[in-house]
Amino acid sequence: MKVATFRFAGERHVGVVDDAGLTIAPFDLTQDEAEQGITALIGRSLPGQRSPIPLDRVTLEAPIPRPRRNIFCVGKNYFDHAHEFAKSGFDSSAANGAVPKEPIIFSKVPETVIADAMPIHIDPAVSAAIDYEAELAVIIGTGGRGISRESALDHVWGYTIVNDVTARDLQGRYSQWLIGKSQDTFCPMGPFAVTRDDLDLATTGIRCFVNGELRQDSNTGLLIFDVPTIIATISAGVTLQPGDVIATGTPAGVGIGFQPPKYLKDGDVVRVEIDGIGALQNGVHEVQA
Ligand code: MG
Repeated sequence: MKVATFRFAGERHVGVVDDAGLTIAPFDLTQDEAEQGITALIGRSLPGQRSPIPLDRVTLEAPIPRPRRNIFCVGKNYFDHAHEFAKSGFDSSAANGAVPKEPIIFSKVPETVIADAMPIHIDPAVSAAIDYEAELAVIIGTGGRGISRESALDHVWGYTIVNDVTARDLQGRYSQWLIGKSQDTFCPMGPFAVTRDDLDLATTGIRCFVNGELRQDSNTGLLIFDVPTIIATISAGVTLQPGDVIATGTPAGVGIGFQPPKYLKDGDVVRVEIDGIGALQNGVHEVQA
């Protein structure tokens, strides 16, 4: 099942996208429920559906427009990216080796989330080195603490796409990555989410294009720490909650991996594709402080 959060006739809705990707059928939710985005579907039987609406008549929002707390993220979680980042000079964790022995977990504040087609803001007064990161994101369904690897996927509701936009200079300046990862608009998400059974973690292609140029081209089967390991790692002492979002890391081909680096600039268009989920596309706009 493919779902989206969207606006239609001035109100937020959550609905199911048909197989052809032409219509979306809103769930029968109260307005308060719909305000939560797809979190409103978690932990309950599916509500009834209303008549489908042509997809081109709605405005898609992020599946979870405002997560209830920070988005968990995994750093350096594909071998080829771990090496390109460690060599870049911006990796404040490089002293521990290019490939981490345990997952690197950081977070982005919830206010970073923006929808498909919304602009990523770059502020030259704050950063001169803004980069894209195509990532598969996990949406937690059943919360828990001390979740085992073996049962971890039972706690997954589904998956979506995020672009873990990063200010590399800020990431390198501070040993904690939060500031460089949490700039306003730095978490494009969506436009669709799929339920757990609709995605094969071993074989799913993930790509990123900038202005039509293929920059990242990988497969979620190449994660260093797989989704069960990530869930087991975070939930060891941190109770995961329904609706938590975990971005699983990005493959090689980010801007910092090129010589010279290819940072995002005003007017660029970044497109992240994950097979079976869809494409998340955002323009880049320079703003003044
Ligand atoms: Mg990332």
